[in-house]
Order: sequence, then C-alpha cells, then structure tokens
Amino acid sequence: MLQFTEDFEPGSGRSVIVDIKEELYSAKSDFQAVKVFDTVAYGRMLTLDGIIQLTQFDNHAYHEMLTHVPMQLSNAKNVLIIGGGDGGILKEVVRYSSVEKVVLCDIDPYVTKVSKDFFPEFRDAFEDSRAEVIHEDAAEYVKGKTEFFDVVLIDSSDPIGPATVLYEKEFYQNVYNSMKIDGIMSCQMESMYYHPEFIKEKVTIQKNMFKSAEYYYTMIPTYPGGSIGFSLCIKQGSSLCSARLDKNSLDTGSNPEIIDSLKYYDNKIHDASFVLPKFIGDVLC
Ligand code: SAM
Repeated sequence: MLQFTEDFEPGSGRSVIVDIKEELYSAKSDFQAVKVFDTVAYGRMLTLDGIIQLTQFDNHAYHEMLTHVPMQLSNAKNVLIIGGGDGGILKEVVRYSSVEKVVLCDIDPYVTKVSKDFFPEFRDAFEDSRAEVIHEDAAEYVKGKTEFFDVVLIDSSDPIGPATVLYEKEFYQNVYNSMKIDGIMSCQMESMYYHPEFIKEKVTIQKNMFKSAEYYYTMIPTYPGGSIGFSLCIKQGSSLCSARLDKNSLDTGSNPEIIDSLKYYDNKIHDASFVLPKFIGDVLC
C-alpha cells in the first residue's frame, strides 16, 4: 500500500500517515511544493511542502468553523480571506447574501489553479461575481488598508515558510487597521495539544490589540492531534460582548437556510466550541 507521511515538525514524532491510491499532481511553485493525492479513506487531499492542507473527507469541519463563527456574528458586506487559495473558505463566504465583496489574497497562484482542477466542489465559488482573487503576499496587501472589511478570515498554512509573517504582531496590526470599527477577525491558530505556548503568545498579542480575542476549536481527523483551533477577535467598536451567539446576534447574523446546508457548524457548536478542555483553558486564562 502506497502511503503519504506528514512529518509534522520533523523529529517530533507526530507524523500523520495516509494510505494513498495515486499521486494526481506534483509541482514546485515559487513558494512551496504543491501536491494532490487520491487517498484510500479521505478522498482527494491537498498538501503544501508535505503538510496536509485539506481532504475531501473532513475539510468542512475546518472551513465551516473558521467562516461561520464570525459570519454569524456579523452582517458582513466586505470580507477579506487571507490565504485560503483552495477556495474552501470562499465557498462558505459566498453563501451569505449580505456579502457584497469578498477579496481572497493568496500568495500562490498554483494553489487556486490546483483547486479548480482537482476540487470541483470549490470551483463555483471562484466564479462568484462578488469574489476578487489576488495573488500576493497578504502581509503586503493589508499594509495601508483602513476600515474597509467587516470580517477578515485568515486561512493561512502553519507558521513556516511564506506563512510565517502571517502570525506576527505587525501583520495583526495591519489587519486590525483594515477592519471596520466593529469588525471581526478569525484566524487559524494551531493545535491546543501541540502548540499551547504559541497559542498563548499570539492570543495575548491579539487581546492587547482587539476588544477581545477568544480561542475556539474544531475536530478534524487528518490534522495533527485530530483538532485545530482558531482565534476570534472583535474590534473595539463592536456592540458584541463576546463571540458567543445571543438572541441579538442570532437576529442579525442567523441564516437558517445556510445552517441547514452545513455538515459541522450550527448555533449549538458555535458556542460549545469556545468551551475549552481544562489543560488549554488554564494556559490561556
Ligand atoms: N487549512 C490550512 C491550514 O490550516 O493549514 C490552510 C489552507 S490554505 C491552502 C493556506 C494558504 O496560505 C496556502 O494556499 C498558501 O499559499 C497561503 N499563504 C501562505 N503564506 C501566505 C502569505 N504570506 N500571503 C498569502 N497567502 C499565503
């Protein structure tokens, strides 16, 4: 049996092994090695520099939770997706009729090309008339932008290679500046099992910048440790007291027809995802 091994943090012993039917695509862009596999148990799988980015089996757990937690708290018109070149987040954002413009800024055109070629479930989102896809370093793109985006979704790869800059204070500050005064941001924030101190460092930076920064998580079998987290940040001018849904935010942001079509997210898991296991709650308190 052919196997793909994600040697997550070489030497850490935290490999993820996936049985493979066939390698469908392999190329080296200016930024990373881009591969697509057909797997035995998880459908098609996209990897970048040997790290699993998504599988058809469980990507909804990640894409729905990164997108709908902030989107359900907002009536967003202007949305920015950072990274996300596979289109999974874009597909979730264009479900909202309130959205007038969504900018997707991914540094690597190979990723969007590969996604359209091998993941047809994301292809339509790229054709949405409200979507604008930009290929540049998002750290450069956000510089100088002021008070335009209602929601910013940071779907970046792990803090290595081109994505390193997307976890730095200066970048968060530029994202903050690009948001409306009541804007909401959610960003990929690693694994509570493997990166508690990293999470604490980044969420602390965000807490000192935003009105609030709260960690929440999803369960996703093909990511190391079987889960990954996010940080939900609310800007100073928002009337929201926290990232939990309440009657008001349900009235403003709830879209039952959207939630009915989802596989992981609903309003119950929205609030429950902020209830953290004790070991990480103690670190982040
Ligand atoms: N869900 C995945 C995860 O949690 O690791 C991330 C998926 S998405 C494919 C990650 C994207 O971030 C990639 O397409 C990569 O090209 C993009 N990226 C990395 N560094 C970037 C940067 N500096 N500016 C814009 N996009 C970047």
